[in-house]
Amino acid sequence: MAIGIIVGFAAIVILFFLVRWHAKSTVYSCPNCGHAFQITALRDLISPHFPFKKYLRCPSCAKRSWCPTD
Ligand SMILES: [Zn+2]
Repeated sequence: MAIGIIVGFAAIVILFFLVRWHAKSTVYSCPNCGHAFQITALRDLISPHFPFKKYLRCPSCAKRSWCPTD
């Protein structure tokens, strides 16, 4: 019983750090103005995405578009 809780908790912690690492290491570029930017882990989780692009709002020009990763 207890071991299941520990393993489940460890899995959540590892997943959290993976998502955080992914968000911090990935730079997206705006196809509209060329601005390169990073996103938060939360945004990374909730935004729709394909393997090499993500639907995001550019912090520079405020346009929503599919931003490719740099
Ligand atoms: Zn832009």
